[in-house]
Amino acid sequence: ATAGIKVLKALIMGPPGCGKGTISERIVKDFAMIHVASGDNLRRQILQGTELGKKAEPYIDDGQLVPDEIMFDLILGELAKLKNANWLLDGFPRTVTQAQAVQKIEPKEVVIDLNVPFEVIIERIKGRWVHIPSGRIYHTEFSPPKVPGKDDVTGEPLEQRHDDKPETVQKRLEAYKKMTEPVLNFYRDEGILTEFTGNYSNEIWPHVHKFLSTKITPLQYTVYK
Ligand code: ATP
Repeated sequence: ATAGIKVLKALIMGPPGCGKGTISERIVKDFAMIHVASGDNLRRQILQGTELGKKAEPYIDDGQLVPDEIMFDLILGELAKLKNANWLLDGFPRTVTQAQAVQKIEPKEVVIDLNVPFEVIIERIKGRWVHIPSGRIYHTEFSPPKVPGKDDVTGEPLEQRHDDKPETVQKRLEAYKKMTEPVLNFYRDEGILTEFTGNYSNEIWPHVHKFLSTKITPLQYTVYK
């Protein structure tokens, strides 16, 4: 019977460096969902030297948001193709205009907000290393790679993001407060925002897992203490 099957459209939000990427990786592993991450997509476009990547790069390096029209070109087509899939949208929407555009394509049921204090973020971001082609994230202290400086899956070198420099992180946090907090209020008013507060992904993750298990069946049975 298909009666119990429905498609889940979810968003994950939170300030830069709050662990959206890490929590998203765990969500898509434990639940059958497709991860659409705007930042990962942008970094891949830059790596591949596409026109879109060239247009977006100066904004990213400066810690500013990429203009809405460029983001629409990047994301809206992809979402339209995933109409019948469960998806987890990470890093988009980031402005009220973007939120209105997503609303037109698809009503969402779940918005996960990761609430991590700004002071903790600034400290944590210093230890972050990324495998740019896949978007896999490591932290020298909390989730180190098996071999220092190398991606666990491909063995390729890890990098620190240009925009993870402390002064750029500060600008990203400011952009978040100004442009993205109104989006949170929009979803809070709609009654679909669930907030998770904590300092570390390992501390927040069990709560996110438990919450999502009430919305969609996990692929495997996992007990988190
Ligand atoms: P983290 O990856 O640490 O969670 P973040 O949310 O700042 O932090 P990404 O989502 O990877 O990082 O985004 C990196 C940069 O890409 C942003 O600072 C911004 O310049 C650009 N960007 C990503 N998504 C959007 C968006 N929806 N609108 C505008 N700019 C975006």
